[in-house]
Amino acid sequence: MQKKDYYEILGVSRDATQEEIKKAYRKLARKYHPDVNQDDPEAEEKFKEVKEAYDILSDEQKRAQYDQFGHAAFENGGFQSGPQGFGGFGDFGGFGGFDDIFDMFFGRGFGGGGRRRNQPRQGPDLRYDLEITLEEAATGVEKDLEVMRTEICPDCNGSGAEPGTHPTTCNVCGGTGEIRQVRQSVLGQMVNITTCHACGGSGQIVTTPCSKCKGRGKIRRTRKIHVSIPAGVDTGTRLRIDGEGEAGSHGGPPGDLYVYISVKPHPYFIRQGVDILYEVPLTITQAALGVEIEVPTLHGKAKLTIPAGTQPGTKFRLRGKGIPHLRRSGRGDQLVQVAVKIPTRLTAKQRKLLEEFAATLNEEKGEGRGFFKKVRDAFGGN
Ligand SMILES: [Zn+2]
Ligand SMILES: [Zn+2]
Repeated sequence: MQKKDYYEILGVSRDATQEEIKKAYRKLARKYHPDVNQDDPEAEEKFKEVKEAYDILSDEQKRAQYDQFGHAAFENGGFQSGPQGFGGFGDFGGFGGFDDIFDMFFGRGFGGGGRRRNQPRQGPDLRYDLEITLEEAATGVEKDLEVMRTEICPDCNGSGAEPGTHPTTCNVCGGTGEIRQVRQSVLGQMVNITTCHACGGSGQIVTTPCSKCKGRGKIRRTRKIHVSIPAGVDTGTRLRIDGEGEAGSHGGPPGDLYVYISVKPHPYFIRQGVDILYEVPLTITQAALGVEIEVPTLHGKAKLTIPAGTQPGTKFRLRGKGIPHLRRSGRGDQLVQVAVKIPTRLTAKQRKLLEEFAATLNEEKGEGRGFFKKVRDAFGGN
């Protein structure tokens, strides 16, 4: 296989300074680092290539050899058996991994200040799905939620040690919870940090485990949590209840509880944002003659005057009878839409009366004709 030119790999000119070579290498190493490109053999290949090029070009002596003899300068074991070798790449054994290389690049690592395994961490958030009625959404409601969650063990206060006993400082890590190994590599000094295997990162060894939590320091329990649902919530509204989530670790605060609201469909109210749509059925005579009716609203019954000659589909607005705005004052409206029911069965008397009524319509020929003439005109007819 034809090996690629080291300068090409790093994208630098042949007279590049060490500073330029280092800069190019860091940029590429970050891009192709196996921890960033997990399960990408191509990136791993690239990374090896980049590292190899850097190993040679960053060493003035090897660079000079390479400039003179090309790749041939390092064949037959010359560099391969060198102190750093290439052996560790398969599992990336030599590096501490992601944290270390990034700590180094971003100037966090080196002998302290890095991410510690046993530092306080906030507990995970919890989600609770709550279904409420439209009436509850309109007025607001108080609820007691039963939430199963992890809490700090009250007996041992999270230490995991039986009350009256004390955990001892882990003598493997000296209580830090992590093992640090400093090693020299081509990237400079590498600090390899791993979680202490003896204490699991807590820095302490429990000799007599707490009997309540079996030494875990946390227990599962169901809590009743009181929640005030404000008026105006809708399906998709999310309420955050501070600190009612899962317990934190190493003295960290608990997570939050998120209540996801969904509002049940109502048998006859249709919600449209903050407005409510309600369909009222009227008889033909009510619509034609007008009528005073009572309609249900989310806030009790309301009177509504239907004027004579109301057409099907007409909407009347009851101001302020809708849903409150969630984050400001005021309420939406209720819209009352008229549906006219045509009778399907008529008594003999009703039929007679309607026929008489129809006859009076026939007398008003002017209006009827006018309508049909307009239709004919619209269709361009004769
Ligand atoms: Zn306990
Ligand atoms: Zn330890």
